[in-house]
Amino acid sequence: MEHIDITRLQHLDAEHHLHPFNDNAALAKKGTRILVKGEGAYVWDAEGHKLLDAFAGLWCVNLGYGRRELGEAASRQMTQLAYYNSFFQCTVEPTIQLAVKLAELTPADLNHAFFTNSGSEANDTILRLVRHFWAVQDQPQKNIFIGRRNGYHGTTMAGASLGGMAGMHKQGGLPIPDIHHIDPPFWFADGGDLSPDEYGIVAARRLEQKILELGPDRVAAFIGEPIMGAIGVYIPPMTYWKEIERICRQYDVLLVADEVICGFGRTGEWFGSQYFGITPDVMTLAKGITSGYIPLGAAMFNDRVAGVLKHQGGELAHGCTYSGHPVCTAVALENIRILQEEGIVDRARTEIAPYLAERWAELGEHRLVGEARIAGMVGALELVPRKGERRFFDERGHVGVLCRDTALKNGLILRATYDSMLLSPPLIWTREQVDELFEKAWKSLDETAATL
Ligand code: PMP
Repeated sequence: MEHIDITRLQHLDAEHHLHPFNDNAALAKKGTRILVKGEGAYVWDAEGHKLLDAFAGLWCVNLGYGRRELGEAASRQMTQLAYYNSFFQCTVEPTIQLAVKLAELTPADLNHAFFTNSGSEANDTILRLVRHFWAVQDQPQKNIFIGRRNGYHGTTMAGASLGGMAGMHKQGGLPIPDIHHIDPPFWFADGGDLSPDEYGIVAARRLEQKILELGPDRVAAFIGEPIMGAIGVYIPPMTYWKEIERICRQYDVLLVADEVICGFGRTGEWFGSQYFGITPDVMTLAKGITSGYIPLGAAMFNDRVAGVLKHQGGELAHGCTYSGHPVCTAVALENIRILQEEGIVDRARTEIAPYLAERWAELGEHRLVGEARIAGMVGALELVPRKGERRFFDERGHVGVLCRDTALKNGLILRATYDSMLLSPPLIWTREQVDELFEKAWKSLDETAATL
C-alpha cells in the first residue's frame, strides 16, 4: 500500500474538517482514524490494522466491501449519462427501473417512490408530502406528526425534529412546530414486572393516549423505526407494532415506517415492517438501498397517499437536484440484483442470523452483560454494573466507550451508545466471522471488566 503520512493527514483533518456527531476539539487532540481499504467483512486503517466491521460502516454496507460490480455499474452509467434531472418532465432509465423494483420489493401497495440523497431528506419529504396529503383533502389542521423520544430520523430540521434526541433538539431551535413524541418501547429499562408482550401493548397504547389528547382530527401520522437503531437497538416486543398499526387504522393516522436501518435485509426480512408483520402507508429508505456505496434515499408511498398527491395535489413543490440521480439509482439496482440473485437476505435469515443469535446469547452470559438482544442481523449487548439486574451504570456511557475502544484494539468494530454495544454486520458474514466476533467481543468484555 502506498505510504501515507498519517500524522500530517490527521493534522490537516483537525485543521479543516468538522466531524459530524463528535466533540471536534477532543477529536483534534486524539487524531482521527483514517480508513484506507475494505474487502468483504473487513476494513483496514492507515496504520495497517485489519478490522472486522461488525457495524457495516454505519448500518449500511449490507453487501460487504469491495464488490466491483457496483463500481462498474457506476462507471457505466457515468460514461453513458452522468446526470440528468427529473424536474423538466424528464427521467432516466435506471431511476424508472429502481422505482419499479422498489414497488415490487416493498410490502403491499407501497408502489410509488420519491428519490432523495439521504435518509434525512427522505424523512423531510414525508413530513411535507403527508401534510400536503391531508391539506388537499380539506384537513389542513391534520398536520401533527407523532414520533418517539430517542427516536432517530436524521439530521435535517424535519428529520431531527421527528427524531426525539434531546441533545439534537438543543442545537438549532428544534423541534419545529406540530411534532410530538411519546416514550419508546424499551422493556429492559421500562418494562417493570410486565412480560415483554404485555409491555409491548402498554408501550403502544401511549400512542393512543397521545392521539386522544391531541385530537384524532389533528394527527397526520405516526413515524417510527421498526427497531430503534441509534439509541441502542431497542427491539420492541412482537405485540408492539401490531398494536401501533391497529391504533393508526382506528384513528385514520398514517403509519410511517422509517426503514433506513431496517430495510434491505437487516432483520433477515427485506424490511423491518415484514419482520413485525405490519403494513405501513409510507416508508423511508436509504443506507442498504445502495449498501452505502453511493448516497441515495427514497420515500415510498402507498396507492392511497400517492393517488391523492397525484390527482388532487397539483404541482409537487418539492425536489432535489439529485432526486433520482442516474448513477445512484444504477448502483442501487446492481446492489439489489446481487442481494436477490445471490440470495443474501434469505441466507442471512435462514443460516447466519440463527447462528449469530446463538453466539450472541453466549456473549449474554458474560458477567458484564445484562441483556443480549438481537433480531436477524442487528443487536445489542447491554452492559450493566450488576448481572441479573436491569439497571444502568450510574455514569452512563463510560463503560460502553471503554469496551468500544478495547474492541477496536482487538480488531473489532462495534459501536457504543451509552453502555449498549451495537451490532449490525454486513449480511454476507459467514459462520467464521460470527466466531471471530464472539472471540474478539468476549476478550474485549473480559478486558473491560478487568479495568472496572
Ligand atoms: N433514519 C434512521 C432510522 C437512521 O438511522 C438514519 C441515519 N442513521 C437516518 C434516518 C438518516 O439518514 P441519513 O444519515 O442518510 O440522512
